[in-house]
Amino acid sequence: MVSISGKTKVCALIGYPVDHSLSPIIQNASFRHLGLDYVYVAFNVQPEELKGAILGVKSLGIYGLNVTMPHKISVIQYLDELDDDARRVGSVNTILNLNGKLIGYTTDGIGALNALKYAGVDPSGKKIVILGAGGASRSISFTLAEWAYEIVILNRTLERAISLINDIKGALGAEINIRASQFNDENLKVELKDADILINATSIGMKPEETETPVKREFLRKDLVVFDIVYDPLETRLLREAKTIGAKTIDGLSMLIHQGAASFEIWTGFRAPIEVMREAALKKIREGEENR
Ligand code: NAP
Repeated sequence: MVSISGKTKVCALIGYPVDHSLSPIIQNASFRHLGLDYVYVAFNVQPEELKGAILGVKSLGIYGLNVTMPHKISVIQYLDELDDDARRVGSVNTILNLNGKLIGYTTDGIGALNALKYAGVDPSGKKIVILGAGGASRSISFTLAEWAYEIVILNRTLERAISLINDIKGALGAEINIRASQFNDENLKVELKDADILINATSIGMKPEETETPVKREFLRKDLVVFDIVYDPLETRLLREAKTIGAKTIDGLSMLIHQGAASFEIWTGFRAPIEVMREAALKKIREGEENR
């Protein structure tokens, strides 16, 4: 293990709350595995402290940041530059401190795309049904809109989904094949009949409501890829039911790992050790379950 010295590069997560985040486990395991002189810590930062925290990043020379709720949008005003994806999506989850210049990136969308690819699923030319139009869906939808043949976003609050597809068309072109629809059983049944990939980007099924599922089992098919971005629990009811009918499933930890991997690559320039990241996260999750 590399010992911490005066030259160690510090990366950190800021958000609130971050006490149970898996990011320090994932990132430190990767730094150690590659023998990189980096360390990753987490800071609880309340909204009213965000400006001070970002000034502190500059003053202390903190090298890289991950940004999570509730700061992904509000942090933008304090940055010096945004990469194209972050500007389009309007959200930042990764910051690189390049000699005092803070550059914002978003790796959530690429995390979802790479989770699909890692599972052997190519989204190009596919019909993708995305549930939810919140922050996570926004990043995923922007990225996948450039690959898919067709995207349908179903959301409980229809106006939010309409506003999202208008933003995507505005950024990527009116010819992008993307629609919004009300999230209900009737529409789910119709849209899933000929869909190739289903992505749950709502919080339905997340602890403590793990007995919930956004989609009835009877609407799932064996040849539908089911990707649930909820990672607590790791196996949601949606994924469990999809598995029982033989569908290919992808869990939320996979997206978490791949978005973390993309951040790691921005900070270090090295390819992230995906399996090391996943093993470290699974070990932590198992320990947590034993202690419950
Ligand atoms: P968010 O911005 O609060 O959005 C939540 C979404 O879920 C909205 O579309 C909301 O619909 C919908 N929703 C919530 N409860 C619902 C219900 N009972 N019925 C129907 N729709 C409901 O949250 P987010 O940041 O996008 O996160 C969503 C989930 O993704 C969370 O579980 C989060 O932990 C997970 N996530 C995972 C990763 C990963 O790397 N795996 C990354 C980010 C987030 P309305 O618009 O109608 O409110």
